[in-house]
Amino acid sequence: MKVAIFPGTFDPLTLGHLDLIKRGRALFDQLAVAVMTNSTKHPLFSVEERVAQIKAVTAEMSNVSVITASGLTVDLMNKIGADYLMRGLRNTTDFQYERDIATMNKFLDRDVETIFFLADPKYQHLSSSLLKEVAINDGDISAYLPGTISTALDKRLEERKLKLVTKQNEQTKSK
Ligand code: ADP
Repeated sequence: MKVAIFPGTFDPLTLGHLDLIKRGRALFDQLAVAVMTNSTKHPLFSVEERVAQIKAVTAEMSNVSVITASGLTVDLMNKIGADYLMRGLRNTTDFQYERDIATMNKFLDRDVETIFFLADPKYQHLSSSLLKEVAINDGDISAYLPGTISTALDKRLEERKLKLVTKQNEQTKSK
């Protein structure tokens, strides 16, 4: 049985990620999407929120599971019996970064095979961070996110704005 893992931050999952999941699940018998908890990035959504979002979006995909992970990806792969590690390539910057990680993972475990998917040209300019940047400035990026995630992003940014306004009001009062 061919078992693959697709690790990432997914803060949040975009249609670019979802395209890879669909292509990966057609190639592998089982695909585990792993939300990595040891990212150095400051996420907008908690790990639990991201797992729930991805689970909802992939609910109909019978061979896709969603898990959380910290530590080395190769250790997680051994734990769940995965031999293939899926990653996406959007550009040469991705390539250089991903090549080093794939080479290191091969060094750590010779049995791990990294499989790269070229990003669909429709999505190759997309990253979660770019989408968040545009959304924070009120740009409409809903065309690039699954509907439920787009709604969750709007809600989270609205909550953040309210928090900021409340904080500013409190600061003004205390002056
Ligand atoms: P990480 O922090 O591990 O890079 P990301 O959530 O940013 O996590 O990305 C996870 C994987 O998905 C990476 O391999 C990345 O190259 C790929 N990816 C991200 N956006 C896209 C996209 N628009 N099209 C195809 N692959 C993508």
